[in-house]
Amino acid sequence: MVDQHNIASAHGGLPAPGLATQLLHRDDVDHLAHPNHPIAPTLTTSTTFRAPHPDSAAAAHMRSAVAGEVDFDFQDPPTHVYSRYSQDTNLRAEKVLSSLLRGHALTYASGLNAAYAALLFYSPSVVAIRNGYHGVHASLKLYSRGRDVKVIDLDAEYPRFAPEKQRDGGLLVWVETPLNPTGEARDLSLYSERTRAAGGSLVVDSTFAPPPLTDPFAFGADMVMHSGTKYFGGHSDVLCGVLAVKDKADWDALWHDRTYLGSTLGSLEAYLLLRSLRTLTLRVQRQSETATKLAQWLHSLSLPSKSSDTSSGDTGEQQSPPPSSSSSTSPSSISGGKVIGRTWHGSLQPRQDTDLDPLAKSEGLGFDPRQQMPGGWSPTFAFRTTKPEYARMLPHLLRYFTPATSLGGVESLMEHRIVSDPGEDARLIRVSVGLEDFEDLRADIAQGLETLLKAEQEQQRQL
Ligand code: PLP
Repeated sequence: MVDQHNIASAHGGLPAPGLATQLLHRDDVDHLAHPNHPIAPTLTTSTTFRAPHPDSAAAAHMRSAVAGEVDFDFQDPPTHVYSRYSQDTNLRAEKVLSSLLRGHALTYASGLNAAYAALLFYSPSVVAIRNGYHGVHASLKLYSRGRDVKVIDLDAEYPRFAPEKQRDGGLLVWVETPLNPTGEARDLSLYSERTRAAGGSLVVDSTFAPPPLTDPFAFGADMVMHSGTKYFGGHSDVLCGVLAVKDKADWDALWHDRTYLGSTLGSLEAYLLLRSLRTLTLRVQRQSETATKLAQWLHSLSLPSKSSDTSSGDTGEQQSPPPSSSSSTSPSSISGGKVIGRTWHGSLQPRQDTDLDPLAKSEGLGFDPRQQMPGGWSPTFAFRTTKPEYARMLPHLLRYFTPATSLGGVESLMEHRIVSDPGEDARLIRVSVGLEDFEDLRADIAQGLETLLKAEQEQQRQL
């Protein structure tokens, strides 16, 4: 008979597991030691747990912890008390997330909830930030209520603070990368160097590029934030946020804040999150590959075509990387910059400032993000149509893309971005690429663009 314990100990001799293996096994209790161990996690929704017998060691430990005599490690509690403090499924999800993000991770009730917790944690008096998800700016306004907080531009000169100010009235630099809605990457090494020099802290909102695409800690982040609603949840059915820090003492402090903010993730959501994390690498790599092909193809549509008439569009806007060969399959009616004015994506960086459009996004010119994003580009990106009417209608003419906000799910979405973000250019469309086949998605957009143009010609004929 095979000795199960010997097999279990042999696991210790294996090489360090890869990311996909960690996602599946990091939270696994030693299943070799438990005959009949359930493969899927057991779903526990209980908010409260039977107290240990007063004479037990567990009860004595709890009494000492409440009296402040010993630490009670809520990352690995000997017993659960109440689900706002700890609960099995959430702890398992956090174990997997910690492994994935290479830090100590906590979950929150939403991405914005996590963003707010990050602000409270650092309690800055100066925040350097520009653009990105508009909701984070709204959270920052909430945080600033009743406090004397100065918001400065990300590229402004940073005021210097003494080290003791790091979590008490100092500088917080908030970098979202890749950026919502364009999917373009910002230079993390640059911002971490500048933050360090000023004695500040760097939070990176990495929602648009989960591992294995990038690791912000490797480029100097002090804290990594994710809207887990997006790629971690991955199926448009769980609202969730994540923070990760390198230091366990910071995790403890964040855990304390979360407990008394009451922003713990619900147990059903934790279950859905854990289930989705198992397939994260597969999903994200595929979504990234498809998005890159689509962005390259859309970019090719904005370039002046060799033979076609280019007078109807603002062409010649973008000259960076070469278009993919898929451009040759596009009907000439939709190429040559007639409908697509410009496409933004990490794969189109570094770019030069050849865009003369007054609403052009001109961040990070010349930055090459290849080193920062070794696992691939963001599966979400944006493009600009030549007329606002095209951007308004296109998402509603498609079969496989659904007109909706959010991103990161297995189904592709396309959004006229101004609908969610009133500050956005009315010609901008954000694309979240799901798991459909590339050729189907490309054909869907192509037919949508052709339909737009035909409808416009029809209208003109009737005038
Ligand atoms: N950060 C980014 C970059 C986002 O795109 C979003 C949501 O779209 C958030 C934060 C907020 O996350 P949630 O909607 O989960 O609160």
